[in-house]
Amino acid sequence: MALAYAPSIETTPVRIRHRYDHFIGGRWVRSSGGETFPTVNPATEEELAQIAVGTAEDIDRAVAAARQAYEKYWRPMRPADRAKYVYRIARAITERSRELAVLETKDGGKPIKESRDFDVVQAAANFFYFAGWADKLRYALHGAQEPAPVGVVGSIVPWNFPLLMAAWKIAPAISCGNTVVLKPAETTPLTALLLAQICEEADLPPGVVNVVTGDGRTGAALVAHAGVDKIAFTGSTDVGKIIQKTLAGSRKRLTLELGGKAANIVFADAPLDQAIEGVVSGIYFNQGHVCCAGSRLLVQESVHDEVVEKLTARIETLRLGDPLDKNTDIGAINSLAQHAKISELIESGVAEGAVLHQQSCALPERGWFHRASFFTGVSQSHRIAREEIFGPVLSIMTFRTADEAIEKANNTPYGLSAGVWTDKGAKSMYVAQHLQAGVVWCSTFNQFDPSSPFGGYRESGFGREGGVAGLRPYLAV
Ligand code: NAP
Ligand code: MG
Repeated sequence: MALAYAPSIETTPVRIRHRYDHFIGGRWVRSSGGETFPTVNPATEEELAQIAVGTAEDIDRAVAAARQAYEKYWRPMRPADRAKYVYRIARAITERSRELAVLETKDGGKPIKESRDFDVVQAAANFFYFAGWADKLRYALHGAQEPAPVGVVGSIVPWNFPLLMAAWKIAPAISCGNTVVLKPAETTPLTALLLAQICEEADLPPGVVNVVTGDGRTGAALVAHAGVDKIAFTGSTDVGKIIQKTLAGSRKRLTLELGGKAANIVFADAPLDQAIEGVVSGIYFNQGHVCCAGSRLLVQESVHDEVVEKLTARIETLRLGDPLDKNTDIGAINSLAQHAKISELIESGVAEGAVLHQQSCALPERGWFHRASFFTGVSQSHRIAREEIFGPVLSIMTFRTADEAIEKANNTPYGLSAGVWTDKGAKSMYVAQHLQAGVVWCSTFNQFDPSSPFGGYRESGFGREGGVAGLRPYLAV
């Protein structure tokens, strides 16, 4: 007899205002156009708040505020003093971690255990890590005595890790002495706005960090603004290409963190139960809304059936539902548009002849959800093997030799991440060295640390975030 399931809902109270303005020059400023848009909770479809639509004029004001702060306060400040502000932000994130986690989960749909144990923890860690660099920048680059900041940075982030991506951008930028205009994603602006409030409460000089909310047009206005010295973009490859074209021939610096279609390679000699856990976290973490998700599983032929059997059993145990329930593994899909995109790709997989496997649980009556899914019988030409699905959908293919695995893994326009599971150290190294991916995890997946650089090859973008390498885009030599 099945035991009754008792949910354990996170109840930390969070104050959400009815309306949010932009944070520009240390003040909360109405949109010049007066327009707002709703942000909703994808698990309930309820409106959470009205958000200001950033116009070109708003961007212009924010860039002017960032320029003034750069010239007047931030660049002239002693680096050790700059560090104190960044540490202060880091500590405030830690102190308000519960609140940030609940807000992230409500606005974006991810399980509370992930926002609590991953997103917020990593966001704070990034501020702590880069704060430590602020007065040691002369050691950051070989041959550069005193590297200088770049100036005003325009940062544009996506909806899958809203707070964390904002931290990845803001922490290194301001630690190096730059000032920032941040454009959060349309569906998940709330934690970036709370981060702005944290900057305000940390007494950060006005204009060092500015947040202008809005949609793609707001982002495009930031990219095009003549007063911006560098654009740091994380998002889709399609928008990344548009930005690169816009900036071609300009003096602006650019880093792009784009999409991925990572291979997770499992050899027959790997400890399979452990590998299955890595496969599950590789694709179902954050509902698969992960640029570095292990979305192509390459299994050595002799263990294919065993892996499929184990995975079938394992996905039945994943709890899908209320993202605020501390036991939830699969939360809500971030938006209706993303839900439709995932459905369309699943349909294409079935139509092209692959076999769909899904967990059998019921879906909640409200909200946007997709069951944990995987396909067998996938060929490399199928769309589900080539295109980024950005959902809880895995495509399984097989290989015989290590070289065949490498060739299949590299057969993608992307090159962000990859995983290798084998009991043999030498094989692990050999495969890792031949994979064209910015990050390769061996016998693990989705591990992050602020000291470790992250970034892509080819259509996954260029530039690195994290570690010493993550300082370079923010420093002029
Ligand atoms: P997206 O559509 O490219 O949006 C990213 C950000 O750019 C959003 O803030 C978006 O605003 C804004 N934007 C849209 N059009 C723009 C334009 N023409 N000019 C300037 N900004 C514009 O991507 P997404 O769907 O939000 O995010 C998913 C993608 O991000 C996936 O492909 C994923 O792989 C990638 N990603 C990559 C990394 C990495 O580190 N490599 C990390 C996370 C995600 P709106 O929200 O208003 O559209
Ligand atoms: Mg939302």
